[in-house]
Amino acid sequence: MDAALQPVFNIFKSKTCKFIIAGSLLIVSSELAYELYLWLRKVPKRKPKSCEVFFINRRKLVQPLPSPQEFLFEHINRIISYIDRAEKSICLAMYIFTMREISEAVIRAKKERSVIVRVVTCESMVGNEGSYLRDLITEDIKVQYKYKSEYLMHHKFCLIDTDWYCANCLIAYHTAQHGEPTKNMQHTLFDKAVMSDREGLLQRFGSSCARCNPALQGRKQATMLRKDDNDPLPKSGVLIAGSSNWTFPGLTTHWDTVTISSLPELIDPFAAEFQRMWYELNDPLDATLTREPLYKLRRGLQK
Ligand SMILES: [Zn+2]
Repeated sequence: MDAALQPVFNIFKSKTCKFIIAGSLLIVSSELAYELYLWLRKVPKRKPKSCEVFFINRRKLVQPLPSPQEFLFEHINRIISYIDRAEKSICLAMYIFTMREISEAVIRAKKERSVIVRVVTCESMVGNEGSYLRDLITEDIKVQYKYKSEYLMHHKFCLIDTDWYCANCLIAYHTAQHGEPTKNMQHTLFDKAVMSDREGLLQRFGSSCARCNPALQGRKQATMLRKDDNDPLPKSGVLIAGSSNWTFPGLTTHWDTVTISSLPELIDPFAAEFQRMWYELNDPLDATLTREPLYKLRRGLQK
């Protein structure tokens, strides 16, 4: 051994040094053991369900029992909690909408978090006496419907933070599902546009989206002020769909159902159909008429 290194080895051989090394190893190993203990006792994160079905007049009996108000509002509060977590968009197709608490959540999403809100409905229900659609319109939320249509817009679904189809992706989706539009399909404005007005569709829906352009995937609103950062929605968004109108009895006592899902197999068809309606149910809106119940004005019940 090199004589120059001998003093160094002597130090390591000394009792004091051995004691220090043993002590250090003990401290490090106890730290590691503690970290391992923390890791092992960590409660595994609950994997969110990709699909849940709720029956409106069926409730969970939990202990301690909820207050009568909480019990009654279980399904209403669930819908509000999803709307409160929206970061990008809310696309709502609703026939009757008379729930003030839900309309306030939709307005909060737009005003406080810059969420894009689009609503399609039935003209007959905009002027409905208890309708909160008028409140949305007053807050500059775009509410679209067909004027004097023979066919009700009878859907009850809502898409939250799902990806918007650009014109190319929307045409590709509809063509893959229903085939190339033919002359027999001229009666639908959307199919007519696919055949003869692709430029109009491009203007309406754009030429690029998160579905065809990876650079746009996962893009969030710049002014994101989500209410609950600990419980974000699934990345692909959620669909809330069922037989319930967003009315008090429709969400508390009726024989109705609501399904909430993040499955792409469910979200994609609803998202594509929403955009077909967004294209077709697009008559000019007279905002002044919406301030008072339309049905009263129409029937001469109110001057
Ligand atoms: Zn696209």
